[in-house]
Amino acid sequence: MAENLNRRNTRQRELVFEAVCCGNHPAAREIFDQIAKTERISLGTVYRNLMILEEEGEIVQVKSDPELVRYDRRRDLHHHLHCKICGRVYDMPLPYNSGFDREAAKKSGYRIERHSITFEGICAACMQEKPPKKGSQKGPPKGS
Ligand SMILES: [Zn+2]
Ligand SMILES: [Zn+2]
Repeated sequence: MAENLNRRNTRQRELVFEAVCCGNHPAAREIFDQIAKTERISLGTVYRNLMILEEEGEIVQVKSDPELVRYDRRRDLHHHLHCKICGRVYDMPLPYNSGFDREAAKKSGYRIERHSITFEGICAACMQEKPPKKGSQKGPPKGS
């Protein structure tokens, strides 16, 4: 019995981990929606496994989205772009500047562990989307 339960827990943890890896900084709800397409899982189980994976150092929380806690499989220090239109969070391909940390330590007297930068803007996908033309708004469905 206990072994079965263990196996089930491991399987669920793997599913949650995979969903974090496949998604783009997904939030708990998105992870749940993704897994629930094919498996039976509860939102509570997703939250619990996210916590465990975080404790184990497999994933980290991203705080680049002010509205949602998102998760990242990348544990190296890197920066993010938060799109203010779609709300997605992307990795920013810029090197981590540890000189900032040293300088901040010198200036503040703090022991600095890391810094994070979130660039705010509009992602490439949203920029490509044309703004809605005047008069093209959908009216009430025909025949009503
Ligand atoms: Zn966007
Ligand atoms: Zn990231």
